[in-house]
Amino acid sequence: MTSVVLEEIPDRVSLAVEISHCRGNCEGCHSPFLRKDIGRELTPEVIDALVADNFGVNCFLFLGEGRDPETLLDLADHARSLGLEVAVYSGREEVEDIYWDHFDYIKLGPYKPAFGPLNNPKTNQRLYRRVDSGWEDITFRFWR
Ligand code: SF4
Repeated sequence: MTSVVLEEIPDRVSLAVEISHCRGNCEGCHSPFLRKDIGRELTPEVIDALVADNFGVNCFLFLGEGRDPETLLDLADHARSLGLEVAVYSGREEVEDIYWDHFDYIKLGPYKPAFGPLNNPKTNQRLYRRVDSGWEDITFRFWR
């Protein structure tokens, strides 16, 4: 499923695409259907069409990673080549170092019911934004 969202990435109008075949196993998973291999393949051509249909977005958000990191990073590069910032919501505690070269925003951390999602000040999840000096934890932006 795709949607244009305002809250997932602060100050950005994001075109969010749910990525299936999730590698996670979060307790109380909010989207169990994403753990299956469903939907249609995301390709550069599909991204082109989605962006063309959603004029005004300035960020492409991968809601999940799937199981093919090489393709994910290629698709991230493609979205960036269209002039968009690129974000990924990972359910993992950490991602491979190479991820930090391909995204402008990375969300880390599995969903844990006891700690809640990003907008819960107790959350275990973190959203990082690329800045000139490296990466900034901007999770607090969800708590206002
Ligand atoms: S990251 Fe966790 S909550 Fe999200 S789809 Fe995967 S298992 Fe479910």
